[in-house]
Amino acid sequence: MSQASTQEQGQCLCGAVRFSAHVAKREIGVCHCSMCRRWSGGVFMGVECEDVSVENENALGIYSSSEWGERCFCKTCGSTLFWRSKDGSHTAVSVQAFENPASFSLVSQIYIDEKPDCYSFSQATQNMTGAEFIAMITSAEQKHD
Ligand SMILES: [Zn+2]
Ligand SMILES: [Zn+2]
Repeated sequence: MSQASTQEQGQCLCGAVRFSAHVAKREIGVCHCSMCRRWSGGVFMGVECEDVSVENENALGIYSSSEWGERCFCKTCGSTLFWRSKDGSHTAVSVQAFENPASFSLVSQIYIDEKPDCYSFSQATQNMTGAEFIAMITSAEQKHD
């Protein structure tokens, strides 16, 4: 945590949902799991954030995708916005929702074993299979899905 946390602004495609979030590390983690791909229409490129505050909560749709996780989107335009844990300990914001996605770097890919062969990223990243990721978060007492 040597980097200072910065406050970033973001929004959905139509602008009905606007938010601000604290970003500690300008790092993107991609998830190739089938749920994230179906939800995002691509791959989910998440940035771990703290204190995400949404300007108009009524505009935010929330889909409960598992016992511990939920997926937030714009009720009007359908933009993929955040994955968060229900206990509030963990929020991953879609890098594409921020004003300047180019200011972040792709550092990790999870559920690499669920990635379809039709695409791949050229960056050198830390890659984990779903099983490796679950083992890691279980030991850190955090869960994803
Ligand atoms: Zn919208
Ligand atoms: Zn996923």
